[in-house]
Amino acid sequence: MAEAAAPTGRREQLAAALAAVQERIERACTAAGRRREDVHLVVVTKFFPASDVALLAGLGVTDVGESRDQEAAAKVAELRCAAAGDEGPDGAIVPRVHFVGRLQSRKAGSIARYADVVHSVDRAKVAHALDRGAQAAGRTLDVLVQVSLDADPDRGGVPVGQAGELADVVAGMGHLRLRGVMAVAPLGAEPDRAFADLATVAAGIRERHPGATWVSAGMSGDLEAAIAHGATHLRVGSAILGSRPAHR
Ligand SMILES: *Cc1c(COP(=O)(O)O)cnc(C)c1O
Repeated sequence: MAEAAAPTGRREQLAAALAAVQERIERACTAAGRRREDVHLVVVTKFFPASDVALLAGLGVTDVGESRDQEAAAKVAELRCAAAGDEGPDGAIVPRVHFVGRLQSRKAGSIARYADVVHSVDRAKVAHALDRGAQAAGRTLDVLVQVSLDADPDRGGVPVGQAGELADVVAGMGHLRLRGVMAVAPLGAEPDRAFADLATVAAGIRERHPGATWVSAGMSGDLEAAIAHGATHLRVGSAILGSRPAHR
């Protein structure tokens, strides 16, 4: 069982950090006049082992985020393997998997096999590849259109002006379910401004696609701003798991 390898104290460490983040979320919801149950926490576990995911599941985490296909596929396989064995309640849970990283068409088939939600669809080619992958896997995936709020091509996302068109493409796919939008706040910019812009894009898409109600925004450093601007899904990594290796 993956959990057996966890260093002593790791569970307590994760529990304390998770509780601190939950408290931040609750306070931000109160400040924004929003209901806590309308804001979902996705714990981003990239660079951390499957044993941490198992511990988090045991602590009540229902959703995890991953950003690299190979790493994510291996981790999910390890967790499913543990869940299929004779493990106790902690090891038997495989949380919902959200793919939040840059998406290449050639990886779409693999991602469609283990991810439940894909946050980072930013071009039609990727949407088509993911739809084909989901069909082959006999699944339907929840999909968010990633919006670029700073027009930096290295960070992913469709330009604001083309987000509606891409949402239409996703909504037209037989094996993808358009759920809403996702964005990462631009580096060195005011997150409030960025998340306000994202809320405007989300509202525009919702006019044509009433079911696209999810707004994925907010990470360890800016989750309060995201909640203030209507985020429904937070993607929090380092505030819960600790700092990742500097080089990605
Ligand atoms: C890594 C990552 C996160 C988590 O970031 P933290 O600052 O560690 O909370 C969120 N979203 C995406 C797209 C990521 O790649």
